Amino acid sequence: MELIELRDIHKTYYLGEVDLPVLKGVSLNVSRGELVALMGVSGSGKSTLMNILGCLDHPTSGEYFLDSQEVSPLTARERARLRNRTIGFVFQSFNLLPRTTALENVLMPLTYTREDLSEQQMKQRAAELLRKVGLADRIDHLPSQLSGGEQQRVAVARSLVNQPRLLLADEPTGNLDSRTSEELLQMFQQINSAEGITIILVTHDPGVAKHAQRVIHIKDGLIENGTRQPKPGDAA
Ligand code: ADP
Ligand code: MG
Repeated sequence: MELIELRDIHKTYYLGEVDLPVLKGVSLNVSRGELVALMGVSGSGKSTLMNILGCLDHPTSGEYFLDSQEVSPLTARERARLRNRTIGFVFQSFNLLPRTTALENVLMPLTYTREDLSEQQMKQRAAELLRKVGLADRIDHLPSQLSGGEQQRVAVARSLVNQPRLLLADEPTGNLDSRTSEELLQMFQQINSAEGITIILVTHDPGVAKHAQRVIHIKDGLIENGTRQPKPGDAA
């Protein structure tokens, strides 16, 4: 079943006198449980597309169905609710709160979505996620006391705390060295296969192809649908 269906999505930025068309008719389906890598040169519209997928921005025209629900007729409040319940985000620049421990950074999104959880339950869930990303012994560290790779792991744990169905990662390896990038890509692959979370990953890392089931390229405002690679264990 499709988690994401984009139909003929256009996005034009209006800058005073000038129109800047960026997406020119993107159609794309992503199935539940897929790990898709999105690649393209700088300025090709990858972040524009990710912002639309993340319900952070509206397309100029076209239809977007997320989990069978059409996004554009929703009010801002309904969209925010859908986003909080369905989508986790990871960014290039980690975006952690600086004077806040790893544990508190991870549980932060819970404090405004899950009023039903006690402080203790939130801490437990956050600590469990930090353990999962290999940071059990770093939960009380501040971001400044962590390496870039560790900070990004905290951000990944935070993105999972609301149990999203979709993880959107926009150049998550952009500030990491190649070995740390490789470890992070392996972690996304692990999250995808173990938890069945659908992941869309923007990256320049040519090594990503061996972690993704599908690599799609965006060029001249359109995407080419990559061929799906068989998952290990799939019948040939
Ligand atoms: P990528 O992530 O692939 O590098 P972006 O989606 O960020 O590309 O940008 C695509 C194009 O749209 C670029 O030319 C960029 O300058 C322009 N752009 C991005 N965001 C805006 C905006 N909010 N207003 C106007 N132009 C924008
Ligand atoms: Mg970008």
